[in-house]
Amino acid sequence: MFRIGFGFDVHKLEEGHALWLGGINIPSDKGAIGHSDADVLIHAICDALFGAANLGDIGIHFPDTEPGLKGIQSTLILKKTVQLIGEAGYMIGNIDTTISLQEPKISPYIEQMKKELSTLMGIDVNGISIKATTTERLGFEGRREGVSAYAIALIQKIAS
Ligand code: MG
Repeated sequence: MFRIGFGFDVHKLEEGHALWLGGINIPSDKGAIGHSDADVLIHAICDALFGAANLGDIGIHFPDTEPGLKGIQSTLILKKTVQLIGEAGYMIGNIDTTISLQEPKISPYIEQMKKELSTLMGIDVNGISIKATTTERLGFEGRREGVSAYAIALIQKIAS
């Protein structure tokens, strides 16, 4: 049985912070802020996976009120999410994502992100698609106040 899930996330951008996207540190004058390392792409992917398995959302599994999770690397959140999906009896099919960011251009980093994510998730690199768009300078992404990401995930019940 196949199931599909959707995820969306936003983080605020500010100067003096690192910009982590898909587990890669992207050189940028502005970085994302959050309780974790604020990797908006990974958070959207986790929510898509949780949604597909009907396991709630990233906030339930990794609460931002939990002091122990302060500054946690999102790559660890993703690993744990994949583990939970596996324990629920699913394997991951493919993931498609879009990052909405005005600057910097992230196309030079996409292959690296795909490699990193496929290693973390234990799936083929061909199973991960990452697309990037600007919002033509409109809205909070366009004003460089924030970055957003969308993800959908297909999972399949492992025959038992
Ligand atoms: Mg987030």
